[in-house]
Amino acid sequence: MAINYHSSARLTERCRCYIWQGRGNNCNTLLLPAVLRGGLPHVLIDPGSIRNELGEPCFDSLTAVMERDGFRLQDVGLVIGTHCHPDHIEATGPVVEGNGALFAMSAGEDDFYRSTAPMFFQALGVRPPELDVSFYLGEGDLQLGAGDNRTTVRVLLTPGHSPGSVSLYLQEDRVLITGDVVFAGSVGRTDFPGGSPTQLRQSIDKLSGLDAEYLVAGHSTGVGGIIAGRDNVRRNFAAVKMFI
Ligand SMILES: [Zn+2]
Repeated sequence: MAINYHSSARLTERCRCYIWQGRGNNCNTLLLPAVLRGGLPHVLIDPGSIRNELGEPCFDSLTAVMERDGFRLQDVGLVIGTHCHPDHIEATGPVVEGNGALFAMSAGEDDFYRSTAPMFFQALGVRPPELDVSFYLGEGDLQLGAGDNRTTVRVLLTPGHSPGSVSLYLQEDRVLITGDVVFAGSVGRTDFPGGSPTQLRQSIDKLSGLDAEYLVAGHSTGVGGIIAGRDNVRRNFAAVKMFI
């Protein structure tokens, strides 16, 4: 019996958050249920670690909590990585191998992954997963689904924490998914390989111009992982701009 380390929150009709609650490190995961046409309708964003530094079963927990909500990993047709750090994309391997789901991240992040990330993963004691990028995410809109299920995912290139980091803005629901660029009351580290404080600042400026009702960060801080309410999102941007 897997212990459940994720809490599940249904933010909007089109967006569910799986917020990491363990003691060790792992990212928050998002699910866009039933937005793709065909037999594999779900989109999963940042599936996270398989097992973290404390041995907590991150991937088993995600699988169990999603199943409790009625969603099977076998029905995921597309995995999106905000960036290639292992605590965001290590579990891409088992999802993609399970059913041939597609995997997307930015071209810049794929270059970084191929050149630098294996050393970075090994330094963290994680075996780099075999990542075969099905298509690249570039700046602009990704149209998913059709009819009432139509979902527009605006992709924003937001380097600084990692050179090819992307943030995602769900246009219809005004949900902003920031990966490790900005958190509740904090910003992403820039001391990892490929990090840049100048780029992070520019990326945060770019995101702060969006009209977001929710901000979902790649990791939770003491004040949580989801910021709800347009004014709270704005206040958070104003506060974190003072740190960088
Ligand atoms: Zn990261």
